[in-house]
Amino acid sequence: MKKIIVGNWKLNLDHLQGIQLLQKINYSLDKDIEEKIDIVLAPSHTSLRSLQTVISTDNLKIKISSQDVSSQNDGAFTGEVSAFQLKKLNIDYSIIGHSERRSLFNENNKIVEEKFRCLESNNIMQVLCIGESLEEMESGKTLDVLNEQIASVLKNKTLKKALIAYEPIWAIGTGKTPTPIQVNQINQYIKDVVQSTTANNYLPKVLYGGSVNSENAAAFFSCENIDGALVGGASLDGKHFAEIVNEFNRIK
Ligand code: PEP
Repeated sequence: MKKIIVGNWKLNLDHLQGIQLLQKINYSLDKDIEEKIDIVLAPSHTSLRSLQTVISTDNLKIKISSQDVSSQNDGAFTGEVSAFQLKKLNIDYSIIGHSERRSLFNENNKIVEEKFRCLESNNIMQVLCIGESLEEMESGKTLDVLNEQIASVLKNKTLKKALIAYEPIWAIGTGKTPTPIQVNQINQYIKDVVQSTTANNYLPKVLYGGSVNSENAAAFFSCENIDGALVGGASLDGKHFAEIVNEFNRIK
């Protein structure tokens, strides 16, 4: 089964810097990478078109994701970008429900569910982020939180494509991580819940996100239920990000 590694550039880089980073990543990747791994980069909206043009002109084996999408399809929603507009740019993926959107922009599960549907009707792969806060983890509520986040978005849906990214909020950008064994168990739990929640018993790929770097990548990637990674900070350094991808490629 093919693995997936998504680089989330967050609010960094203009479109020219984005092109440079894309080229640096591409240059540093193992040559046989595409047989085993889908590489996806999520730049700001302003870079989507430029990166997509470079990828198609140079025939690069890298895909592009949006970092977010509107929960509305069209109309008087100033500042929003719709799934339909992304599809017109040949964008294949979109992150939704990232903890920064949930905590800084008050996005609740209902909004995430609406975004999920907009992407579905435009045939864009959802990268649905879920994860517990430090407080929730410390009070033993991790599984309840994940259950609620999954059920409120996926319940009774018939899924065709969708990825889940398990991102404990306390691990994002902090340098702290759960152990690979813990993530492996939680990812198994997420797969079970998604299967029993969806109308067609959909078995998702589940990524791990939270302070992944080239030193810890191999330990995560050798776990059976970790189907890839969502990488934030380390994706802004081309060589470092490519090393993470190459680590994955070299796991037997
Ligand atoms: C993220 O923002 O999704 C993320 C995982 O960030 P970092 O890798 O920096 O923890």
